[in-house]
Amino acid sequence: MIPFRNSLPYDIQMNEVYASECPFCGESHVRLPLKTAELEQLRGGLMKRLVVMPCCRSRLQLVDADSDYLLSNKPLRA
Ligand SMILES: [Zn+2]
Repeated sequence: MIPFRNSLPYDIQMNEVYASECPFCGESHVRLPLKTAELEQLRGGLMKRLVVMPCCRSRLQLVDADSDYLLSNKPLRA
């Protein structure tokens, strides 16, 4: 069970994955270097994925996802 503070809300627009807000620098609506097919694999627990945020180059290790949230191996919120 991954704690809620490790979660990052996302949405999909035009087949692109967007974070509602970068947990590191606060930039809003950041397009992630993540394909929707990769998102499906994350959701199935089939892979983990390191994402480098395009806004501030922070690294985000994704370990799971559900229909609303990406889940990291580290806390993203206080
Ligand atoms: Zn950022």
